[in-house]
Amino acid sequence: MNEKDILAIQELLASPKKIAIFPHRSPDGDAMGSTLGLYHFLLKLNHKPVVIAPNEFPEFLAWLPSSETVLVYENDRVNCTKILNEAELVFTLDFNALHRTGEMEQVLSKLSAPMIMIDHHQLPDSYATFTYSDTSFGSTCEMIYNFIGYLNQKNLIDKTIATCLYTGILTDSGGFRFPKTTGTTHRIVAEFIDLGVENTEIPNLLFDNNSYDRLQLLGRALHNMKVLFDKKTSYISLSQKELDEFKYVKGDTEGIVNYGLTIKGIVFAAIFIEHRDENIIKISFRSQGDFDVNQFARDHFSGGGHINAAGGKSYDSLANTIKKFEQIISKIEL
Ligand code: 5GP
Ligand code: MN
Repeated sequence: MNEKDILAIQELLASPKKIAIFPHRSPDGDAMGSTLGLYHFLLKLNHKPVVIAPNEFPEFLAWLPSSETVLVYENDRVNCTKILNEAELVFTLDFNALHRTGEMEQVLSKLSAPMIMIDHHQLPDSYATFTYSDTSFGSTCEMIYNFIGYLNQKNLIDKTIATCLYTGILTDSGGFRFPKTTGTTHRIVAEFIDLGVENTEIPNLLFDNNSYDRLQLLGRALHNMKVLFDKKTSYISLSQKELDEFKYVKGDTEGIVNYGLTIKGIVFAAIFIEHRDENIIKISFRSQGDFDVNQFARDHFSGGGHINAAGGKSYDSLANTIKKFEQIISKIEL
């Protein structure tokens, strides 16, 4: 962030304000960790913050401190719209284009309050008054830590704030494994552990809280996996019928796409999940090395994300979407 923006933001935060903070639709660990981390920080500065998620967040994040205060736009449009219209300052975290909030975009695009975007995705839109965007970071949570530093308020980081930020750093780095994990990332996490963050309990809450049905669904997903060895590609599909069979709840398919990359020689993995209520196929892409899945998702599946992790969607049937995917793959160099 440049000096001028920091001074302007310091000025804005100098007196108590009503502040709305929101993550992208279908928020993940980084989206929820960064919004709630910032929420607790702003509370300490005597502001009146509120986190508004476009839709429900997964159950495996429901232990995050104050997650019970998070409002869900889809469940309470009237109240959330009122709060947004009354907000004196707005933070948008962990996404780079207003359409990532789904139907909330219509309300957000009309707000007059200053907006601050903090995000690490590629090619950010320029909707915000202040944009802190940096794709070199592995998580928005790590950027929130820096943002607090820019404001000279690191001394306010306590166990609660650190717990939220630790969660996003952990989930978005794949457990400190993805390439953007740096020595600095580990030094920040070390500070968090010194503040009392439960670094053995949190991974348990996030990753080892499976239901039997979820594991059976994972079994089906792995069974459905197709491997195109000559294209170094693997993909998984799950139909709505299969989700129903294993009593799918939000969050159950999180991380399944990564299994495709664990096969020796595979550099590109995808998962196609049918969501009949929304009439879409949700797609996740992961890659290892140089293959840019952000570009791939933008070019072919109305999506985006990062070089090695991106998502997209299709309004065609599951079978046709997969057919289209195979056709594209057959024509590109991998
Ligand atoms: P996931 O596959 O875990 O849903 O998403 C991987 C990454 O891509 C995340 O950083 C997520 O924010 C981004 N992403 C997922 N879906 C979309 C999409 O439809 N559009 C854009 N621009 N980014 C997406
Ligand atoms: Mn993120």
